[in-house]
Amino acid sequence: MNTPKGMLVIISGPSGSGKGTVVKRLDPDKGYALSVSMTTREPRPGEEYGRDYFFVSEEEFIATRDTNGLLEHAVFVGNLYGTPRRYVDDEIARGKIVVLEIEVEGALQIREKFPDAVLIFLMPPDIDELGRRLFNRQTEDKMTIEQRLNRAKNEIKYISRYDYVVLNEEVDLAVDRINTIVGAEFLKPHRNPGLVEDFKGDEFDVASFILRIDELIK
Ligand code: 5GP
Repeated sequence: MNTPKGMLVIISGPSGSGKGTVVKRLDPDKGYALSVSMTTREPRPGEEYGRDYFFVSEEEFIATRDTNGLLEHAVFVGNLYGTPRRYVDDEIARGKIVVLEIEVEGALQIREKFPDAVLIFLMPPDIDELGRRLFNRQTEDKMTIEQRLNRAKNEIKYISRYDYVVLNEEVDLAVDRINTIVGAEFLKPHRNPGLVEDFKGDEFDVASFILRIDELIK
């Protein structure tokens, strides 16, 4: 029997698109494993080291990057962000659906290195709503919100480089859609090479089967 190997799923979308909430709702019992990124950004109130991010100094980030410890990395509104390599490698090898919640630049680096990765862009309903969400969470000052909104406008231009777009009007619906995408991805022929091998069609002798057909189907 063919066992599908793991899958790398990238979820991008402007800050305020609700990515974090959606990603946290992906069920580990369905095989999802969320990668925790490394960042030089200051923790927001309520954020925890190791759960939300590995909050590190710039020196530590650069040392990790320079020793090939990151799968991808990018600068976002003045801070460094990157995906630790080890966790992703290990979980993929265990057959998990590894989810990276990352911005566009990092997503495109992943696409280059792992053409098999599934890129999903989570769209906020509209730009006003995005601004409202950023403002309401009261975690950033006005200048940072402005920079994040400008970045959002820019990121949306890259949507055609993604495999799927999911509108995030409602969290449950967005989660369902991601589950549907992942389910369909697992059915792609290139993820199931064993199915063709197990079928053993090459060994089947059609001519002799036809000759014996009356006897066989009696
Ligand atoms: P935030 O500061 O709001 O937590 O994240 C800012 C942006 O950085 C978001 O778009 C988020 O998806 C992205 N991000 C988080 N972790 C990573 C990472 O490891 N790599 C990259 N390239 N982007 C990340």
